Amino acid sequence: MTGAPLMAEMTWPEIEAAGRAGAVALWSVGSTEQHGPHLPVSVDHLLPVELSLRIAEHVHVVIPPPQPFGNRSHPLSGGGQGFPGTTSLRASTLITVVRDVVGELARTFDRIALVNWHAENVNLLYEGVELARESGGMDGVTVLVVDRVWNAFADAELDFLFADAGGFPGWAAEHAALVETSLMLALRPDLVREERIADDAAADSPFYELLPAPPSHVPVSGVLARASKGSREKGERLAAMLVERLAGALRDGLGAPPAP
Ligand SMILES: [Zn+2]
Repeated sequence: MTGAPLMAEMTWPEIEAAGRAGAVALWSVGSTEQHGPHLPVSVDHLLPVELSLRIAEHVHVVIPPPQPFGNRSHPLSGGGQGFPGTTSLRASTLITVVRDVVGELARTFDRIALVNWHAENVNLLYEGVELARESGGMDGVTVLVVDRVWNAFADAELDFLFADAGGFPGWAAEHAALVETSLMLALRPDLVREERIADDAAADSPFYELLPAPPSHVPVSGVLARASKGSREKGERLAAMLVERLAGALRDGLGAPPAP
């Protein structure tokens, strides 16, 4: 079968042909991190891959296997490293993984896009790409990095999410909360333990971090804000907005061709 967007399911001649046709290698970088009692630890790499599959309906992309491990979880944005299942890399390891994978993809694709879904990875993708470029072999290759996907939207565009949920808690606390719960209900409802959706927050969420973190910075559930106002409808609307913005970025930034 040709044109399948998941690189893991493609043969090398199919991948080669996609690269020659100008397809974008659209790589998701996430984490394996607790997401409360109602979502699996894979949310941060499942969601961008699901969105990538929808993007593939609009622009020509090949989706390499996602990066499942991210930089270490911070207490105030992911609950920290204390939860079972949270499995992380030190920053230098992730930078090296990004450098190596981007360098490999660049042998076949001259358009590469990285989408990050884990707050603690911010700036590390850019660094890995720069190291790959310094290593050579990337002449004529353009890389697009989406570090903070929510920067795609003006605040007012997202008001519909939080209007009935007491307002926007800030992106650091939007972990395993309304946004990710809604997107999972829309994109992978089979993995949501709906009866376990709860509202929670750290007792204390200051603008600074403490090492070691006091217990007041880590909610017992791992949920950092209200999740109960999440819904499949909100998730579908937000997913469509994300697909539209990200597909637009691939067209504008990389000249991505339309889906074959
Ligand atoms: Zn997450």
